[in-house]
Amino acid sequence: MARDTKAVCRKCRREGEKLFLKGERCFSDKCAIERRPYAPGEQGNKRQKLSEFGVQLREKQKVRQIYGVSESQFKKYFEMADNKPGITGENFLKILESRLDNIVYRLGFAASRNEARQLVRHGHFLVNGERVDIPSYLVEEGDEVEVKDSSKDMKRMQEIVEFTGQQNIPAWVEANLENKTGKVLKEPEREDIDLPVREQLIVEFYSR
Ligand code: SF4
Repeated sequence: MARDTKAVCRKCRREGEKLFLKGERCFSDKCAIERRPYAPGEQGNKRQKLSEFGVQLREKQKVRQIYGVSESQFKKYFEMADNKPGITGENFLKILESRLDNIVYRLGFAASRNEARQLVRHGHFLVNGERVDIPSYLVEEGDEVEVKDSSKDMKRMQEIVEFTGQQNIPAWVEANLENKTGKVLKEPEREDIDLPVREQLIVEFYSR
């Protein structure tokens, strides 16, 4: 994804909800949306009525920000989802969830998806024993994801597992935070994906 230099917290304020893009900070009283719960900019604290298109667009942008995916990649995922049997919106979320950076986050080896993306790019993870440094790599059921041996004792990795150990690791993955190993047990069902997302709006956005 092209480097996004906008302040990360502005993205949450723009969408009007916490997108949990900054790890520990999101759970502290430093969270910007707790302090300034209105959109950034001069018109930010004026309520705007969105058109149908505007609602669809905002939902698409919100999900794109949550997963940290570029416009072109996001559209490509939608096309993949649309070509699969089943419900397009659910297929779409399942593809996003299977990205390696998301799996690293879900396993508790990063405090946010943004951090997971950075750690993957820096080559800290193995998939089925092979180093993979591509955040968009699609992990499959049965794949094993682990922190590589030389990174297991990194100070930041210790801090992360102390923090994420308090969070919920979903049932469709299995993580051993002590050994820093994990496995994808199965593809998530829609109800396993705990995001406040109305994916049908995204389907409608791309179906215009
Ligand atoms: Fe969003 Fe986290 Fe920033 Fe709060 S601290 S506004 S949840 S990125």
